[in-house]
Amino acid sequence: MATLRFHAVKKSMSYIPISVSPKGRRSDIFGAHVFNENMMRQHLTKDAFKNVTNAIKNGRKIDRSVADQVASSMKDWALTKGVTHYTHWFQPLTGATAEKHDAFFETLGDGMSIEKFDGNQLVQQEPDASSFPSGGIRNTFEARGYTAWDPSSPAFIYGTTLCIPTIFVAYTGEALDYKTPLLRALNAVDKAATDVCKYFDKNIKKVTSSLGWEQEYFLIDKSLAASRPDIILTGRTMLGHAPAKGQQLDDHYFGSIPNRALNFMRDLEDECMLLGIPVKTRHNEVAPNQFELAPIFEEANLAVDHNSLLMDIMGRVASKHHFKVLLHEKPFAGINGSGKHNNWSLSTDSGVNLLKPGKTPMSNLQFLTFFINTIKAVHEHEELLRAAIASASNDHRLGANEAPPAILSVFIGSQLTKVLEELEGVTKGKLSPEEKTELKLNVIGKIPDVLLDNTDRNRTSPFAFTGNKFEFRAVGSMANCGNPMTVLNTIVAKQLKDFKIEVDKLIDKKDLKKDEAIFNVLREYIKASKNILFEGNGYSEAWEKEAKKRGLSNNKTTPEALKAKISEKTIALFEEMEVMSAIETKARYEIEIEAYSMHIQIEGRVLGDIARNHIVPTAVKYQNVLIENVKGLKTIFEGNFKNIASEQIGLIESISKHIEGINTNVTKMIAARKKANSIENPEEKALAYCHKVKPLFDDIRYHCDKLELLVDDEIWPLTKYRELLFTR
Ligand code: ADP
Ligand code: MG
Repeated sequence: MATLRFHAVKKSMSYIPISVSPKGRRSDIFGAHVFNENMMRQHLTKDAFKNVTNAIKNGRKIDRSVADQVASSMKDWALTKGVTHYTHWFQPLTGATAEKHDAFFETLGDGMSIEKFDGNQLVQQEPDASSFPSGGIRNTFEARGYTAWDPSSPAFIYGTTLCIPTIFVAYTGEALDYKTPLLRALNAVDKAATDVCKYFDKNIKKVTSSLGWEQEYFLIDKSLAASRPDIILTGRTMLGHAPAKGQQLDDHYFGSIPNRALNFMRDLEDECMLLGIPVKTRHNEVAPNQFELAPIFEEANLAVDHNSLLMDIMGRVASKHHFKVLLHEKPFAGINGSGKHNNWSLSTDSGVNLLKPGKTPMSNLQFLTFFINTIKAVHEHEELLRAAIASASNDHRLGANEAPPAILSVFIGSQLTKVLEELEGVTKGKLSPEEKTELKLNVIGKIPDVLLDNTDRNRTSPFAFTGNKFEFRAVGSMANCGNPMTVLNTIVAKQLKDFKIEVDKLIDKKDLKKDEAIFNVLREYIKASKNILFEGNGYSEAWEKEAKKRGLSNNKTTPEALKAKISEKTIALFEEMEVMSAIETKARYEIEIEAYSMHIQIEGRVLGDIARNHIVPTAVKYQNVLIENVKGLKTIFEGNFKNIASEQIGLIESISKHIEGINTNVTKMIAARKKANSIENPEEKALAYCHKVKPLFDDIRYHCDKLELLVDDEIWPLTKYRELLFTR
């Protein structure tokens, strides 16, 4: 129904931006809706406060009486802000956040009532968990799951609800969410890194993992988005011919932000401020209507929560500004997709960033230790890291326009490459005093503070060192960062643990000095993990060939990539680091592989429906107009009509050809889907969806997009790319 399209276009053009007035100076409103440490200090007794901060910093248990006190003060604080309900807020494996609201309100009998919230309600809640994905865990064990308070992420108010960040676990203890394994991984990396830090500073007691995410997204007018069934149901356009103008002029990137988008951003940023999400930068991205937002980095668990919360708020604030936010990794073909760079680093409780080159040779040796161990970890587990960012939607982006390829590699820049080359030449065993001096003065002593070539963005590198942090860029814009952050922190933890064992062995058995032992182990690590280093263009054929020679994996699709999640190596890794049991690891795999099939199934249905019920009827309608026209020409021009009507006749033929193309391919796709559905084994089913069903999408799309060029614009039913991407 073309009227819907034009109605939507008209509506989008008549939209007048609503103005937003700032809620206050940022530093004044920051965290106003958060029950943070400062709030607790004000509201709790000294002992209770100590008990809670000890729980947050050292993972100690919180006493029951303290929980009651925290709950009661949280409630009092929340009531002053007009809050009526509370919810345990958690991140089940659906990828979205979940909440179940309960009122504070309780009756006392005799017509009396009070507002009540106690320690029990704070600490534990039982959502009806049966409809969350569990990968069979709950079937095998217990039917129920519960949420439990995570005191390390502060409670916050959203709307009129007090939200309490929680983990979500089965009664048998298995994790059913993203947060639980993340917390365990952060614990593992803390332990392993702290042990290694002690080589350099005996006083280090804790190492914290930090995350700064950069969220990319598209903003589309709400009416226009609503006119497209594919956007509504799959979050992306499944067809649509490229517009005459796309991003070839690069005129959107860092350009001035359109007013309406700017108003949305201001509003969103205010919300973020109230919720303590420290957003700092905003700018246009490369594609038209594409933007990015990034906060100041935070402790990883909190940063993950904040990103999940942000994705939720974005949708709500956008709606107010008559926008729809597209978080999908590839909402438009032929135009850049969206990612979510995960900037990651480790820092000590003494405030040292372990991935920042220092001022002295000793601090640089510490830097190199963490730097090289991270590279080694990535090399060792590149396939698992690739699996951590695999999803049906991210498959469209990896390896495409400006996005990292499906091959994991590490970019470190030429200056550090040189340093590693020098270190590779270090003598085996004991070092002469001259060599030590040489190393200290001329190799590690000379790592410059500012690494010039690391600010130069090699945008195609999936994992890049950028001066004082690693940037994991292959993460998809829709992803929950918990998954990649769990894997990254776990593999680094494992690596640091092994490193410590090896260095200690050299000190004990070979009588090496500490720094000699460290140099010796690092030298071997550099040799062993060289193959993961790559500075060039990540989506070239030459690199694919080269990577293959180097033995790096190149799992292009999700079903292939996910396999690494349940390899023996992975299961052993997660078990050893106490991040996930074998059951939990396998359950996650099952959930993800099934989600993949379901996504492709939904897309297939949507595309089939649009092609048959929207495109074909429109094409037939237009063809009939042409036929009438040709018939008319024939009555006027008789014998000569073929010449005069040749254009129309050609069109009639082309339209028939494309209608036929659509119908045969949709029929084929439905048959392929049926076949895939009949497969029991989840992995084989996913592979069938990937290799038998999905490729037909392109064929169907091809014919639909051709018809878009042929059919009268007046009756074309689907809102076009140029309308979606360029209305302001
Ligand atoms: P860009 O990558 O676009 O040049 P920046 O490098 O300035 O932008 O920062 C991107 C993100 O990295 C921000 O969220 C920032 O807070 C974060 N970041 C900066 N330093 C660190 C660090 N040491 N650890 C983790 N994240 C960091
Ligand atoms: Mg960046």
